[in-house]
Amino acid sequence: MARKHRSIDLATLTVHAGTESREPDTPVVSPIYQSVNFIQEIGSEEGLRYPRYGNSPNAEVVQARMAALEGAESAVLLGSGMGATACALLTLLRPGDHLLASAWIYGGATALLQREFVALGIDVSLVDPLDTRVWRRKMRKETRAIFLETPVNPTCRVLDLRPVSYITKQVGIALVVDSTFASPVNFRPLEHGADVVVHSATKYLNGHHDMLGGVVCGTTSYIEEVRQKMIMWGQAPDPFAAWLLERGLKTLDVRVRRHNENALQVAEWCAGRREIKRVHYPGLRDHPDHDIAVATLDGFGGMMAIELAGGTRATERFIRKLKLIRHAPSLGGVDSLVSEPRYTSHAHLTAEARAHMGIPDGFLRLSIGIESAQDLIGDIEQALR
Ligand SMILES: *Cc1c(COP(=O)(O)O)cnc(C)c1O
Repeated sequence: MARKHRSIDLATLTVHAGTESREPDTPVVSPIYQSVNFIQEIGSEEGLRYPRYGNSPNAEVVQARMAALEGAESAVLLGSGMGATACALLTLLRPGDHLLASAWIYGGATALLQREFVALGIDVSLVDPLDTRVWRRKMRKETRAIFLETPVNPTCRVLDLRPVSYITKQVGIALVVDSTFASPVNFRPLEHGADVVVHSATKYLNGHHDMLGGVVCGTTSYIEEVRQKMIMWGQAPDPFAAWLLERGLKTLDVRVRRHNENALQVAEWCAGRREIKRVHYPGLRDHPDHDIAVATLDGFGGMMAIELAGGTRATERFIRKLKLIRHAPSLGGVDSLVSEPRYTSHAHLTAEARAHMGIPDGFLRLSIGIESAQDLIGDIEQALR
């Protein structure tokens, strides 16, 4: 299928999907409807508009565009990636149900499942996703969904959805995939057997480090149920956030291609340096999932990680000496950022638990931006000295 839906390329959809009007006098750019109230038809419940319902005009444009980009029937925009994850999963799970989830998921999602879901009476098993037989082995008759993230934050491991979706289809349960790291430019999970796609729109989808949002994509009937959860739990976004996301999405294809090119160049350069013990990037031939990445992704992404030969002391010195790449916890935007997962997304785990997940102390995650790759390499080189 790759990149095309209804014969329109993804690059065109990023700019146009959801805004097809050619009426004279309509603005080329969607106006911001910064209003929480809309005049209602008299004597009818039709067309009731209220941003918390997910039907502000700005949210509707983004929802149509995201559905087109993921090749889904429908999409809903929420106030954050966490809100999207929570509402996507709570739509599928009731007290007494069981959720099978990869242990390699965003730290906030782990806490959500282990604290909040368990308190709601939903049983959760976190499993090692590399063991392809684990899904069947841990499946129970109460299991209602499998949840995983790929590429994985922050290790950049790439999971093969085929063996997992084979089981979810056989058993008739949902496969929910957090595809934040890839964006639809690099990977569209629905083409690989997933049923639901979740994004933190805060990252690549918006791409400018200036709005918070989340998206869930799936069938129309399922998305309507997610929308009900969003309405009840108050997880809808503000119109301005939706507008910023629409603006960000217009450049998604060019940005992500540049992220891909830059990260590959930086990773290849890092791989040749003796001060760097290990480079984690799926585009490198020695990456454990390189073959899966080549077979399933359209691009290797802008996320990579390094481990310095000098250990944690060298790591801190290195971060202090960087001039261009800044120390900040988020990712997926035009500015290059560096962070230590042990102080951010994985701070709630012990050092041993992190090491077991492939995140030893001294592990540095790099979110490679769209600056010149040569300047980024120059920055890393001077900081290593
Ligand atoms: C950031 C992130 C989230 C959470 O998104 P927010 O927008 O911060 O709520 C979920 N999954 C992944 C992979 C992320 O990187």
